Amino acid sequence: MTLSTGAVPAASGAPADDLSLWPASTAHVSPGRLAVGGVPLDEVAEQYGTPVYVLDEQEVRDRCRAYLRDFPGAEVLYAAKAFLCRAMVHWVAEEGLGLDVCSAGELDLAVVTGFPPERIVLHGNAKSPDELRTALRLGVGRIVIDSSSEIARLAAIVPAGTRQKVLVRIAPGIAAGGHTKIRTGTADQKFGLSVTDGSAQHAVARILHQPGLELVGLHCHLGSQITAVRPYLAAVRRLVGLMARIREQHGTTLTQLDLGGGHGIAYRPGDDALDVPALARAIRAELADSCAAAGIPVPRLTVEPGRAVVGPAGIALYRVLAVKRTEGTTFVAVDGGMSDNPRPALYGVRYAPRLIGRPSTAATATVTVVGRHCEAGDILASDVELPGDVHPGDLLAVPVAGAYHLSMASGYNLVGRPPVVAVTQARPRLLVRRESPDDVRRRDIGL
Ligand SMILES: *Cc1c(COP(=O)(O)O)cnc(C)c1O
Repeated sequence: MTLSTGAVPAASGAPADDLSLWPASTAHVSPGRLAVGGVPLDEVAEQYGTPVYVLDEQEVRDRCRAYLRDFPGAEVLYAAKAFLCRAMVHWVAEEGLGLDVCSAGELDLAVVTGFPPERIVLHGNAKSPDELRTALRLGVGRIVIDSSSEIARLAAIVPAGTRQKVLVRIAPGIAAGGHTKIRTGTADQKFGLSVTDGSAQHAVARILHQPGLELVGLHCHLGSQITAVRPYLAAVRRLVGLMARIREQHGTTLTQLDLGGGHGIAYRPGDDALDVPALARAIRAELADSCAAAGIPVPRLTVEPGRAVVGPAGIALYRVLAVKRTEGTTFVAVDGGMSDNPRPALYGVRYAPRLIGRPSTAATATVTVVGRHCEAGDILASDVELPGDVHPGDLLAVPVAGAYHLSMASGYNLVGRPPVVAVTQARPRLLVRRESPDDVRRRDIGL
């Protein structure tokens, strides 16, 4: 399987029939009714209520396998922050990937679920002393140093006689990514240590002087929703150059090169997506060339996809509660919104929702799908085409909803975070239940 890209043309001419961005298992069960993983989506909505998130287990597994196939010999870490629950931990572990975590919370969930800690890498630009202690106690494989103050802080708590493997996060000075808020490769942002001002080299020297720390490689993560190969190749050249200088100055040969994630996916038909197999081939060639030119051995490559593994495997289902026709715009209001999907409000992301659960022969109308929250900016999808007879009680499905929705969900308006239902082999099963008023009350213990 290759990862589906937005460039795939629609199966039929009508935009409403374009299922190219949906999970591979998506099928029509009867006119207007869609099934994913063999389970009709309207039945999921009936059984579990709305809003509800549906996750196609096989799609997640297939995407993990595609990465391992596309990057032979490399290490693939799933970036947990895109979406994590215990089932995800199991699937990723079973498929042979490692895990990239950014907090003690993600780390704890993974380890208590049984994920091998040696296959976990801990990131973060501001790890607390407690988080570092937790990481050491749980036996995390590698910790990515992201600031100079972290070096002494970590070295001080490594048990005597042991060594913790670390990488250094480099800010390579490369601008890439779908939005300035998710560009993390430039020098002028909070992540990593800069090569141009020498802070990366300084940190490397200090780590090499710490007997409790074992520097195994360099890391960078350029940003998210990157659709071009070229920034990654520039990163390879810069990091290999730095590896060669480290070898020259310190006699240390680093064996790992972690290029992070950020692989862009399509959210609407026609959107650009990163061609992952092409990326893999180009990185492999660039790494071989750069290392040969620099006279260093080729390090083992690590990639850390999050969005591209889980994003296309998820679907958000909402119930229409109101349709309001104003002079300029028709608003279709649903029972979820910015609390389960903050991405449109954060980055202006566009989605392609679709009517499901019943057929419609009505001509399409241009509408704006809005959420239920108390902000005018709570817009899920502006200027999208839906059947003109859309009415309260209808179900809308938003594809490509698996990444950075629920992991960024908030408690706004105390509506309760939606459940997650896995669909596979024609069977739905609840992975994460809906957050109830009781859950909310239980945390709130003061008077
Ligand atoms: C967010 C992040 C990733 C994953 O990014 P995607 O865009 O989801 O692929 C990988 N590595 C690091 C360090 C990250 O911060």
